[in-house]
Amino acid sequence: MSAEPLPVRFGGGRYRQRPPAPPFTPDAALLQAPLTSVARVGTATARRLSTLGLVSVGDLLEHFPRRYEDFSQRRTLSELRLGEEASVRVVVDHAALAATRRKGLQVVRATVRDETGVVEAVWFNQAYLARLLEPGMSVSVRGTMKMRGGRPALLVKTHELLGVGEDVVHTEGVVPVYPASEEVSARLLRTLVHKVLPLARRVPDPLPVSVRLRQGLPSRCDALTALHAPRSLAEGRSARERFVFEELFLLQVGLLLHKGAEARRAAAPPFTDPPRLSQRFLTQLPFEPTVHQQRAIAEIDRDLARPVPMRRLLQGDVGSGKTVVALYALLRAVEHARQGALLVPTETLAAQHLETVRALVGGLAQCELLCAGLPAGQRRATLAGLADGGVQLCVGTHALLQEHAAFKDLGLVVVDEQHRFGVVQRDELARRAAHDGVAPHLLYMTATPIPRTLALTVYGDLDLTVVAGSPAGRSPVRTRLLAEKDRQKGYVFTRKQLDAGRQAYVVCPTIEDSESLSAAAAVEEAQRLREHELRGYRVAVLHGQMKPAERQATMAAFKDGDIQVLVATTVIEVGIDVPNATVMIVEGAERFGLAQLHQLRGRVGRGSARSYCLLFGNVQTPQAKDRLRALVHTVDGFELADRDLEIRGEGQLLGTRQSGMPDLKLARLLHDRETLVRAREQAQATLAADPLLRLSRSAPLLDAVRAAYGEELAWLFRA
Ligand code: ADP
Ligand code: MG
Repeated sequence: MSAEPLPVRFGGGRYRQRPPAPPFTPDAALLQAPLTSVARVGTATARRLSTLGLVSVGDLLEHFPRRYEDFSQRRTLSELRLGEEASVRVVVDHAALAATRRKGLQVVRATVRDETGVVEAVWFNQAYLARLLEPGMSVSVRGTMKMRGGRPALLVKTHELLGVGEDVVHTEGVVPVYPASEEVSARLLRTLVHKVLPLARRVPDPLPVSVRLRQGLPSRCDALTALHAPRSLAEGRSARERFVFEELFLLQVGLLLHKGAEARRAAAPPFTDPPRLSQRFLTQLPFEPTVHQQRAIAEIDRDLARPVPMRRLLQGDVGSGKTVVALYALLRAVEHARQGALLVPTETLAAQHLETVRALVGGLAQCELLCAGLPAGQRRATLAGLADGGVQLCVGTHALLQEHAAFKDLGLVVVDEQHRFGVVQRDELARRAAHDGVAPHLLYMTATPIPRTLALTVYGDLDLTVVAGSPAGRSPVRTRLLAEKDRQKGYVFTRKQLDAGRQAYVVCPTIEDSESLSAAAAVEEAQRLREHELRGYRVAVLHGQMKPAERQATMAAFKDGDIQVLVATTVIEVGIDVPNATVMIVEGAERFGLAQLHQLRGRVGRGSARSYCLLFGNVQTPQAKDRLRALVHTVDGFELADRDLEIRGEGQLLGTRQSGMPDLKLARLLHDRETLVRAREQAQATLAADPLLRLSRSAPLLDAVRAAYGEELAWLFRA
């Protein structure tokens, strides 16, 4: 490496000039080469590497360091201080295997020197070094000075022989530390990455040059080199920034392509007739819509009046009243002689929605239910009604997505609690209903408060409407975290509420991810309450193992007040709406995520009476306590989501189950918010210039998006 440093500016960080690079010739195929094509990697090593997901040469180049260790300040022996890890170049005087009393421990001791002094260096369990290290050999050693037997000795962590024609990569300079495993050491990874690093020259760059220059980012090749062999910590950091940007940029391009393709895919007959049914619906509601509901309705009306399918995400905290907005939109479809579908994640929720729809929409439209648990006859009748148009509104679960559920003329799909569906799944119904270039409008609803940045990321393919606040006359739910010794106080309080005519939920946590274990626990808890604290009250159970009809009957009885206390598993987490319920008891609260607890809490506080949420939990760690305290002090779902993001990291929020989107490898949304916004702007600009990435200069970008999101967007690339 070059001798005299020349300072230059590069992506914000300062570093030294590199030797002139060979010409850049991208060759993606070369990067697909198996690892066995790397010198001295045999099938056994390749197998071990595959356990880390490393299969090709390209994988190795993209195995990003987790952190760096900085040994760029080389020391002399006289400068070494006790306890400090450092790197020195020394010459071996003499080396030998030392006798030890500890069994199984091998110690090699060597007298080593440099121009400033002499010291004893010690290696553990590397007996072969006693033969390898000959007097006069030059070695770079990295280790720590410790007192050993009353004398200072250099305990060597790792070393490299000098002057044997190999680059120094483990002991000097800024040393990358890779995610390693039992089977694959960080040192092996460092050696291999160093070997393949010259191939960085062949890596295509998906970032358009204009974007790269505008953002002041290095090329992919330079960034890879700087990432794996930085000359300073700053250089490593700025290389990393380039990859964070790249990752977010590719995601945004993918989402915007998806959005564009959906918009181009089909036309939608605009809903422009004057409101008849929908207006009647609004006027016959037992309450006045809030300003936020009205605003959302107006926004949706504008969308529906356009000749392209609406793609809108309606986001509103639990209890904000999204259902009314959805029903309005569905009735707009019906009054244009088209059908509407309301897709929901669980059968319990479907049954409840049907009841709400029938109550609020009344005689305005013919509304039916479709889910897996229906009796065969009813199911057949509903399917026939969907096909001949007799059924105008249909509430259903995944069953709606099945082959034989064909609508005559579907005009609008509403997906409730849409985060429970994957990206592809949530679009499935609309896609299947599309025909002759005509597609239904789409409205997604979610009560999961998603921080704005996350919304941009995960739902970047949708327009966003937020229903803020909650209907007037509600007071925030009071939340208490109760210690086990205060359990009885909790029940005394609950009995008072029940005696005042209110109702209560008791939610038991999921056990070992098993529906049947969780159901059994709920049954047991209900029995216990009936026999003890809630003796004399009408207590029932609700869980996922019950037959749909049974579950529906239980929900209906609870809604009618025949059941006072509902002991349930998390099946009631979403959507359930019984305004008279004012107490929510959560058992094992520490096992729930904040967002989930917030959802559960949202089951109460839906009427005008003051409501309460009592959390029982085994709070061990300060972190767990922090989380539950956040819930006690905050009723704002957005604020909680931010807290959750801070405490748990976005990995969990972005998990496949929640969003249907792949996890991000490098970007940390909380930390990289600002980069995300830039990435989105640049993605928009790029697609404005070349909407389908058809230009030849866009080819590397299209390839990269396809490689990253091919599965999610497969249909897009097929089209
Ligand atoms: P979510 O947004 O969580 O789906 P819902 O649509 O279920 O909320 O509404 C929660 C409760 O508030 C329901 O009982 C609903 O009837 C009631 N509600 C909705 N809008 C209003 C309003 N404008 N005024 C009073 N109550 C309302
Ligand atoms: Mg809802």
